Amino acid sequence: MDRVDITVIGAGVVGLSVAAHVARPGRSVLLVERHPSFGQETSSRNSEVIHASIYYPHDSLKGRLCLEGNELMYGLCRRFGISHKNTGKLIVAVTPEEEARLPALLKTARGNGAQGVQVIGPSDLRKLEPRVEALAAIHCPASGIVDSHALMRHFRAAAVDAGASEAFGVEVGSIDMVEGGYRVRVREQGGETFAFESRVLINCAGLGAGEVAAMAGIDVDEAHYRIFYRKGMYFRVMRGLDRLPSMLVYPVPPTDATVGIHTCPDLAGGMRLGPHDVWVDHVDYTVPEELRELFLRACVPFLPTLSAQDLVPDMAGIQAKRFGPGESSRDFVIREESDRGLPGLINLVGIESPGLTSSPAIGKLVAGMVQQLM
Ligand SMILES: Cc1cc2nc3c(=O)[nH]c(=O)nc-3n(C[C@H](O)[C@H](O)[C@H](O)COP(=O)(O)OP(=O)(O)OC[C@H]3O[C@@H](n4cnc5c(N)ncnc54)[C@H](O)[C@@H]3O)c2cc1C
Repeated sequence: MDRVDITVIGAGVVGLSVAAHVARPGRSVLLVERHPSFGQETSSRNSEVIHASIYYPHDSLKGRLCLEGNELMYGLCRRFGISHKNTGKLIVAVTPEEEARLPALLKTARGNGAQGVQVIGPSDLRKLEPRVEALAAIHCPASGIVDSHALMRHFRAAAVDAGASEAFGVEVGSIDMVEGGYRVRVREQGGETFAFESRVLINCAGLGAGEVAAMAGIDVDEAHYRIFYRKGMYFRVMRGLDRLPSMLVYPVPPTDATVGIHTCPDLAGGMRLGPHDVWVDHVDYTVPEELRELFLRACVPFLPTLSAQDLVPDMAGIQAKRFGPGESSRDFVIREESDRGLPGLINLVGIESPGLTSSPAIGKLVAGMVQQLM
């Protein structure tokens, strides 16, 4: 293939959704992924929560796309039989100081348009979730969980069905602007390199999105496209599941960079706790045993029946953030780069949480941008 209309770089949930939304008969769309299969990085390593747009600043892309994604996600799941559960979520305050922060959280959630959120007291809490201890909580009925692999399989099938091609085990190594598009040089896993041209280039490279933008000539520090890695680790609850809640239960967020260690019920009836977040400078998915006490201390205030013997290290994932240690949170970037002299390049940078929830809305948004270009 010497020339295609559209290249999507990265087959995580975002690239797969984008490919599914831009592919159509009469358009050549190529999905390029460095691993031998799709969804091998962050999209397989997360809490799988369908968020309801609670925490994000008003008018942010995160807030807007999360809200739209929540609605689209439930619609997709119902229509295509993708495993999911509308569990609902509680953000629980266990101290008077945390309780005092609930009204501000509620205001942000309502400002974002989150459906049906309300503060509830101990008696309503006991009725909803008798296994949780707290002074008060925000109840978010629109939250839930989804099988992220099933969602990715759906987007992949939709993309291929609409005519997209895939090149897996192929890493993008350089990008040069040419007449009418971009020349993309890639390396196959065997070490062979080859190049092709693409009229439109869509960067959905997750942890690699900053590097891909830099290949196209963008100064990632000036643009705030440099990606910082925030590792989130989980422990699995192996015993006493019948003593634990079936809803998602979150603490009042400790900082604006994290939502805090919460319960993650899964669709197979199991339960993880997490994530515990740390900044890292390389990809490392280990989960040290020594964190058991930290997980216990974080959860026992609202899950009093939990004990250390119930917990074993589980898995980790890494968020692609546009801000580093000590910096304030930054929004998603989803941007066509004509004004940087790079027409037809669409960058998606810093697609951290709620990227899974937002993925159907991101695909729709990018399809609209592509429509303007073709
Ligand atoms: C611990 C944790 C918990 C989370 N919990 C939630 C949650 O509950 N709900 C929610 O909505 N979101 C959650 N998220 C966020 C969500 O997982 C991400 O926003 C989403 O998965 C990002 O998808 P992506 O496709 O952008 O990235 P990825 O899945 O990382 O995909 C990017 C792809 O690009 C490929 N790539 C990179 N560079 C190149 C290159 N040069 N050439 C070719 N391919 C390349 C990579 O191999 C990768 O497959 C969580 C994230 C983490 C880490």
